[in-house]
Amino acid sequence: MASRHLGKKGIQASFRIGLVLPRVVVASTERQISSTVSKRASESVSFSFARYINGFGFGSLSNWSRSHESFPTETSIRYFHASRETLAKRKEDADRLLSHRERKKQTVKTKGKFSKREKKPDKPPVEAPYVPPRLKRLAKGLPEKTVDIFEGMTLLELSRRTGESVAVLQSILINVGETFSSEFDTISVDVAELLAMEIGINVRRQHSTEGSEILPRPPVVTVMGHVDHGKTSLLDALRNTSVAAREAGGITQHVGAFVVGMPDSGTSITFLDTPGHAAFSEMRARGAAVTDIVVLVVAADDGVMPQTLEAIAHARSANVPIVVAINKCDKPGANPEKVKYQLTSEGIELEDIGGNVQAVEVSAAKSTGLDKLEEALLLQAVDMDLKARVDGPAQAYVVEARLDKGRGPLATIIVKAGTLVRGQHVVIGSQWGRLRAIRDMIGKTTDRATPAMPVEIEGLKGLPMAGDDVIVVESEERARMLSEGRKRKYEKDRLLKAEEARIEEAAARMETESEEGFVRVELPIVVKSDVQGTAQAVADALRTLNSPQVFVNIVHSGVGAISHSDLDLAQACGACIVAFNVKGGSSANLSAAQASVKVFHHRVIYHLLEDIGNLIVEKAPGVSEMEVSGEAEVLSIFKILGKRRTEEDGVSIAGCKVMDGRVCRSGLMRLLRSGEVVFEGSCASLKREKQDVEQVGKGNECGLVMGDWNDFRVGDVIQCMEPVIRKPKFISSESGAVRIEC
Ligand code: GDP
Repeated sequence: MASRHLGKKGIQASFRIGLVLPRVVVASTERQISSTVSKRASESVSFSFARYINGFGFGSLSNWSRSHESFPTETSIRYFHASRETLAKRKEDADRLLSHRERKKQTVKTKGKFSKREKKPDKPPVEAPYVPPRLKRLAKGLPEKTVDIFEGMTLLELSRRTGESVAVLQSILINVGETFSSEFDTISVDVAELLAMEIGINVRRQHSTEGSEILPRPPVVTVMGHVDHGKTSLLDALRNTSVAAREAGGITQHVGAFVVGMPDSGTSITFLDTPGHAAFSEMRARGAAVTDIVVLVVAADDGVMPQTLEAIAHARSANVPIVVAINKCDKPGANPEKVKYQLTSEGIELEDIGGNVQAVEVSAAKSTGLDKLEEALLLQAVDMDLKARVDGPAQAYVVEARLDKGRGPLATIIVKAGTLVRGQHVVIGSQWGRLRAIRDMIGKTTDRATPAMPVEIEGLKGLPMAGDDVIVVESEERARMLSEGRKRKYEKDRLLKAEEARIEEAAARMETESEEGFVRVELPIVVKSDVQGTAQAVADALRTLNSPQVFVNIVHSGVGAISHSDLDLAQACGACIVAFNVKGGSSANLSAAQASVKVFHHRVIYHLLEDIGNLIVEKAPGVSEMEVSGEAEVLSIFKILGKRRTEEDGVSIAGCKVMDGRVCRSGLMRLLRSGEVVFEGSCASLKREKQDVEQVGKGNECGLVMGDWNDFRVGDVIQCMEPVIRKPKFISSESGAVRIEC
């Protein structure tokens, strides 16, 4: 500790950093030198030491207290404060100096009803870390309110449901160019939605089934389970039995969904083609309750694993029934009974134990048990009595969207109710369009799409997102109006969410900073990609590079070429743009260069992560650490006596030779004796010859005075430690996994 040997007074006390050098010491600086020259030290060494020892005067002693300013106090190793012992001692002194009256005043208590609050016993002040005030949530998001709307509701009814006055709703109606005469006027469901959007309220469209034909519909199924348990293989195997595969000679395109038909019964099952929980929860988050049944894939040789439990939780929270597919039953180590037992322990009530959850043993690799799985799904669908309105305007959800060079934005949708007809105007999320073409899963154009039928639609003006709802509107004008209204609402919501996230992140960052002792910087990124799924995957991959020092903030992710608004956004928040599988035109590149926005074009995810990883390393502030920069050996010791001419009030100078690296005056000195650290403290003075020096290199001799230490011995080793900034590292493994190691 820097404050060892505190009992010693005189010049030693003055070496303590932060204390004032007493005048008495100054007076005795030109003093006798008693040198204890070691037997090992040669004559020449002791002579040269004696020369620079002469230089240890007041000037040099005061210099080191100034040089202390350059000492790195913000390191992770140590801080220099007055020690508890020093402060306690100061207090003792202060007590002694108090007059009798003063001491009495301290002890006399005030009599009466209100006694003076007793002074707390003096404790040495503890250096309390600065705790920054918590950031207040400035932008509190509006409480999410959702109201049901329906065709033909009155303005008064909407006012009642939304809580907004009729007058305000009427003024909005005037603004959007709609006519009205009274509050009892009926309005269309599209106008009702537009009004609700303008006042920041979400809507749920209610479709009347009155007078419509309601028929059984096929179930829509999602496959979930633990990684490597065979979800993709099972989907592949099922796809090979699909209608598309049969009709197109086994060649199927990945279009987001496929239908497996049962020729005997004339029934069918629609499978969503995106396995995994992310797609499922993303769709749910966007309000799309597309999935009717979850197929839970569990490998018979592996059993219930963390993501199996996650899938169960997803299905339960969405209130979607499960059918278990025990896969890999062809494997020698397969133990379906064990899987069943594990599932039962997780609260899955299998049919075997009298519950209602079916479990089927399959092998995706050998395509066995698939018919049994399909049967189980149909049975489950019958149990659920799935029915849908067939006629009337369609209600549908987007399961996947992509941009096609020739055909523009394309979306794979699944109709939930009603019938979608070619030529209709639709609004999807905040996009709109006229249905130029509808294609079924084998790419054949069709005029209409009925419930549970996955189709690809063409004719949209922009690219929608997975989970967006599809609604049919009466005219192009309505479609435009509603799409504009939704865009405004979504943008408002987005900004609010971004602001909330920014404030939360700033608060979290401040917490990390105060805990970890370093500043966390932000790396804002705008992601652009060719398809929406890829943009999401790229954003997720970039987020894995998040580290305690650099926060990867995906400010926006979208589809298509880099637009001017992307550049504006990137410029406004100091972001770089990641363009994945996106062609960068020369004009876009030029604009980016003009706006000083860094653009990363990539087609291989690993290369992209490597680039961004390196950028993160560059941006990271790093952590300050102490590193041994040099070593010196003590060859002789010189003592300068203090005023009282005793050894206690003098100062010891170590005559050393730098054996390795360099010894710096601003460094932290560590004294080792027989390999053990006996003292650590700052360097009070460093001299070569008579000169104060900042550093001494390898092979040179020097005189060194260390903090409070007076007990050097010949053969001691003095290590000089200096702060270095250690930056994080970008680590990549052979499997392609990457991370930032701090
Ligand atoms: P996912 O991560 O759940 O989509 O799993 P995959 O479908 O990618 O399968 C992971 C591995 O398990 C692959 O090597 C498959 O070949 C293998 N696999 C999948 N199903 C079976 C099966 O029924 N039997 C055997 N023996 N291997 C399978």
